Amino acid sequence: MRTNNKLIVMNWKCNPRSIAEARVLATASDVKGVVVCPPAVFIHSVATKLKKASLGAQNGFWEEGAYTGEYSFGQLKSVGVKYAIIGHSERRLLFGENSQIISKKIASALAANISPIVCVGEKKRTTVSIAVKTVVAELNNSLTGISKENLGKIILAYEPIWAIGTGKNASLAEILPIISAMKKYMIDLSGKRIKIIYGGSVSPENVNSYTVSPFIDGVLVGGASANKQKSAEIIKKLHSLNL
Ligand code: PEP
Repeated sequence: MRTNNKLIVMNWKCNPRSIAEARVLATASDVKGVVVCPPAVFIHSVATKLKKASLGAQNGFWEEGAYTGEYSFGQLKSVGVKYAIIGHSERRLLFGENSQIISKKIASALAANISPIVCVGEKKRTTVSIAVKTVVAELNNSLTGISKENLGKIILAYEPIWAIGTGKNASLAEILPIISAMKKYMIDLSGKRIKIIYGGSVSPENVNSYTVSPFIDGVLVGGASANKQKSAEIIKKLHSLNL
């Protein structure tokens, strides 16, 4: 089974509680086209479980050495990590990550040959023009200094913050103009068509309302990814599309 060239990023956040549960969850998502992002403490164990899915990290640090509690992108690479979520709104809002920090993380992930999944999104439900302005400013601030070639290796996740963990997913009609403005911005900047995925209360019930569109390259799943039945169902639903 594979996911029709669409990417499904499973962001477990700070779940589950035990390594045994993490290994069960990993098995439920072990499908080609899926990126499993466990908490750092479980990465190595999950890596030994995955045969088809790719391994991702939820964070990383741009240096090595005297930085207690941190782990670098180089270290993540050494345990098999291929993707890293960078600039998630929970990191921005709860851990004070700003565009300068995000930009250093993106550059460091790329240097370690890890594909950054860069998250952007507006805080409140608003007009398309304000949402586009917000996400383009976030991209502008966090992608400065990245070479044209490296920009082509970035994946963007459009995640309206108001839709994250609320059960109020944005509709396809709402996100299309924003994602198309992001695509245009990235083509102007890098000359390349960048993958853009959607995140915000994705569930088995709504996943295909996004993936059916040729303009959406996949989904980032948070809360539902920490539930093995829901993860398996999301993957199965996407597969049933036969795109
Ligand atoms: C997320 O963690 O980025 C996310 C989209 O969470 P949820 O699916 O729970 O809204």
